[in-house]
Amino acid sequence: MSSPSIIIHGAGIAGLVLAQSLLRRGISFHLYESASRDVFDKRHDYGIDLLPLAFRKLGDLMKIERSAFVKRVAVNWECEGDGCLEALDSSHLLRVNRNKLEQLLAQDLPDSVLRFNSENGETTDTPTIGDEIVVAADGVHSSVRKRLLPHSIPAIQPFTVFRGSKRVDSNSFDQDFAPYFKSQTRLERQLGNELLRIDLTGSLRQSKYMGITYTYSRPVRDENDPLFKPDRATWDATQLGMKFKGVVEEIRSHTKLDGAFEKIFNVERIDRDGDRLLHWLMRSILVDKAELKKVAREQKVLFIGDAAHHQPILASRGANLAVEDALDLAEFLDSGKMTHRLDELTLEDYYDPRFDVWTQDRREAQSRIEQLHGGAASSGGSL
Ligand SMILES: Cc1cc2nc3c(=O)[nH]c(=O)nc-3n(C[C@H](O)[C@H](O)[C@H](O)COP(=O)(O)OP(=O)(O)OC[C@H]3O[C@@H](n4cnc5c(N)ncnc54)[C@H](O)[C@@H]3O)c2cc1C
Repeated sequence: MSSPSIIIHGAGIAGLVLAQSLLRRGISFHLYESASRDVFDKRHDYGIDLLPLAFRKLGDLMKIERSAFVKRVAVNWECEGDGCLEALDSSHLLRVNRNKLEQLLAQDLPDSVLRFNSENGETTDTPTIGDEIVVAADGVHSSVRKRLLPHSIPAIQPFTVFRGSKRVDSNSFDQDFAPYFKSQTRLERQLGNELLRIDLTGSLRQSKYMGITYTYSRPVRDENDPLFKPDRATWDATQLGMKFKGVVEEIRSHTKLDGAFEKIFNVERIDRDGDRLLHWLMRSILVDKAELKKVAREQKVLFIGDAAHHQPILASRGANLAVEDALDLAEFLDSGKMTHRLDELTLEDYYDPRFDVWTQDRREAQSRIEQLHGGAASSGGSL
């Protein structure tokens, strides 16, 4: 390989898929990740939905046959049986553990190209902008975006959201939860415009514990809603998370919960199991296309994944878009490599087909959020 001419910031889904795709095309790059290797190895232990197109493309990229891919990354504890693999031949979503997916994508990237923070004394916080093409794949809080497009700030959607997580041992899981999940990994219940959701995050066949995450969400009631804190600091997420217990008590005062919902949305069990509770904000952003193109033209910086477009977590298809953004970008960059003139590529052209997809995703996410909350309308921005 020749000396690196592409710098990628962020080894999340978009950055890793781009790196894998460039590696396989023989295009040199460096990928910088702000987390340490240790943090990277342990984080993101939860499920995300991959659409059939994305997991087929990932399997092709990693040259892994479908059933082997499912066994490596699927959340569903029953998915390792043949029945589930057969089901995946149709148009089903595949629920994957994000940590396992990212580990798979990082596994054969050489240390010389994937640089974690605190290694080699390098810091990845300040993007290098010089002769190289820079790809900002550094997520919704993108520091590249903050620096180059400081006016592009995510909006906070008017929803109150809490998220809890717990781990249960296999006996408790079999006894308390397994009968309700069967071959599913997600349970949902709508109570008017309130949504309760329970997700499995792991595989009992691979570990002695089952991870369970759960969320509560509803549209903001009015401008004095005490649980809507769009300006809260990041570190307040845990403190405010404790208010979830009051929400649970309120729900139980007017609704008789049953099954897994009775066991999860239960303050006594939350305390007994030491669940981690967080207050979540529903951020959304779609960076202006003209601004993206200007930065591509003038500074050779391209944005992909959540750094360019992000929809609220509850209705997100962001992982799927991140995969496609990265694969399309690798193909686009490859067209420059064929002529041996990456520098002659008109970088801003990358956005023409992608931006339409991002715009459509924003519309669809909005409608999914409304459906999930009993058709509740949202203003699409902050109150
Ligand atoms: C709980 C949860 C559930 C979700 N469920 C789904 C789902 O079901 N389906 C779906 O499609 N999507 C889902 N999403 C969204 C999806 O995970 C994201 O859209 C996707 O991960 C975006 O990928 P990305 O690579 O653009 O950003 P990220 O995955 O956020 O990666 C950004 C990377 O950049 C790194 N970074 C940050 N700053 C810097 C810097 N300055 N320098 C270097 N590196 C930096 C970060 O550490 C991170 O590794 C969910 C998200 C969450 C949190």
